[in-house]
Amino acid sequence: MRPEDILVPTPAGVCCKPGGFHIDPTRPVERALITHAHSDHARAGHGAVLATRETLDLMRLRYGDNFAGTTQAIAYGDSLELGGVTVTFHPAGHVLGSAQIAVAAGGLKIVASGDYKTIADPTCAPFELVPCDVFITEATFALPVFRHGDPDAEIAKLLRSIALFPERAHLVGAYSLGKAQRLIALIRRAGYDAPIYLHGAMDGITRYYESRGTGLGELRLARGASKPNLAGTITICPPSALNDLWTRRFPDPLAAFASGWMRVRARARQQGVALPLVISDHADWDGLTATIAATGAGEIWVTHGQEDALVHWCGTRGLKARPLDIVGYGDEDEPSADTGEAEP
Ligand SMILES: [Zn+2]
Ligand SMILES: [Zn+2]
Repeated sequence: MRPEDILVPTPAGVCCKPGGFHIDPTRPVERALITHAHSDHARAGHGAVLATRETLDLMRLRYGDNFAGTTQAIAYGDSLELGGVTVTFHPAGHVLGSAQIAVAAGGLKIVASGDYKTIADPTCAPFELVPCDVFITEATFALPVFRHGDPDAEIAKLLRSIALFPERAHLVGAYSLGKAQRLIALIRRAGYDAPIYLHGAMDGITRYYESRGTGLGELRLARGASKPNLAGTITICPPSALNDLWTRRFPDPLAAFASGWMRVRARARQQGVALPLVISDHADWDGLTATIAATGAGEIWVTHGQEDALVHWCGTRGLKARPLDIVGYGDEDEPSADTGEAEP
């Protein structure tokens, strides 16, 4: 049996013909297995959706009750037979509910990682290494220049800035699903216990995280606060809001942005970010290469980002590698990616 007998890459996502499903399809299909709830992976309009409970709940929050014909929840570690193929979901460490999907048949195992990171995140289950024959990896930060470093050191920068400029409001751009909640949890872990303010677009998802047991301390909506009261506070907002009229309600706002792209100084400057924070929910170069090696896979399929460098690296290690040309996966670390919902 060849890997392509189990999974075929198509422009709309990888397709399992014997199992009758696609993984993270970018177009509506009959049956979709979804790795996580970011909107480029989890789209509305599929006939049937199989995903973790959290992913299904988050999709419902974003798209409404009728986002799919039918839904089925699967827990981490549980397996399901689909047309002679066994699928198993394993934690991906990316955001709440995120999963790698293992597809096995005829003694061959392929793992579709979706997006993943291997460093600890207080808001989701840790990445699980799944030994396999073929590993489908993301490549968002697949260049040696991307080394994310220690997120706690980035949080310390933010807290130092607040101490230095107690009269200014600190606005931190962060993707609404995952990054925002992780940022709040990291800020709490650093000992900051004042209320943290939220842009209205991230309220629903953040409350959902709390309902699943993530303690985030006292949160308030920024729109309920008066301008003088926002001096010296932290507000988390979608990155797109940083350059918005919305910022006028804050006293002397200082723009921060939490993203893996903040490693690139020119990018921070270009986007008017005074305080770049290198915090990413994707594996960096070391994380990607270490994970690929650790899976023991002899063949690597690379998707979703800077495929070339990683394909080349695989070649130098004697691994068979190919880029998958799937159109439609975005990058939630980009400031333009997250429009959230408009704040009422
Ligand atoms: Zn993602
Ligand atoms: Zn992605």
